[in-house]
Amino acid sequence: MNQHRPTEIDTVVGGAAPVLSVEGISVTYATGTTALHETSIQFEDHAFTVLLGPSGAGKSTLLRSLNLLVRPTTGQIRASDLGVLDGTATIREHRQRCAMIFQQHQLIGRLSAMTNVLTGRLGKHSSWRTLLPPSDEERRLALACLDRVGLLDKALSRCDAMSGGQQQRVGIARALAQEPRIILADEPVASLDPAASERVLTKLRDVCKEDGTPVIVSLHQLEYARQFADRIIGLSAGRIVFDDAPERLDDAALARIYQS
Ligand code: ADP
Ligand code: MG
Repeated sequence: MNQHRPTEIDTVVGGAAPVLSVEGISVTYATGTTALHETSIQFEDHAFTVLLGPSGAGKSTLLRSLNLLVRPTTGQIRASDLGVLDGTATIREHRQRCAMIFQQHQLIGRLSAMTNVLTGRLGKHSSWRTLLPPSDEERRLALACLDRVGLLDKALSRCDAMSGGQQQRVGIARALAQEPRIILADEPVASLDPAASERVLTKLRDVCKEDGTPVIVSLHQLEYARQFADRIIGLSAGRIVFDDAPERLDDAALARIYQS
């Protein structure tokens, strides 16, 4: 699937541009709550980043700003291949390239895993094309995506007959069918048991490492952040209070994140 490995030219000129740059954004909702204070961050290929923080810290707000589901009040977002995301057309294109995985996987329960995965392709086509049945090529792609998450044998099963963990893996397969440039996941394991959570996070990490696609996941569980992240961004009350490798997350940093 997508390969974003640095090229020789990137190495010569000192590394590829960040896939996504957050440039001085802040978010104040209409209620007056400032959910995110002004911040600048960059996201690179191959990195599995965890946004860690307690409930209300601003994780979802930051994540949703990255694909402009939430419009920043100040600042801007820049994508390496689209530039500053400020026009309707570039925002639509960016959203198509950003797969989003939600806590409640938002599948259509009465439809098969395969059909749900194929919905990941819808944004790729002009509106008339989406009225036609999927091509053999699209079906093959959908099956390959289900195979990657270990659910090929469930392709024709209804999603509402599957376990929560399996449904979330269908959600990952649907994201993969989008052939994303970036994967965003908002608390993807919040409603899963530990075994299913580890399987889901392992799959997301595998995709990040195999395809080079940056994966940005919000979590409130410290142990999973430590286990899976290359980089942890710690949030507290709308501010980034830690941004480093998991090994550097010491007691002082934890106290800043959890304000204990
Ligand atoms: P987290 O995902 O870390 O739990 P959120 O980003 O959801 O945090 O919320 C950050 C803050 O913004 C909280 O105080 C929350 O109540 C507030 N908030 C979130 N979404 C909205 C919204 N749509 N309108 C107003 N306030 C919001
Ligand atoms: Mg949230």
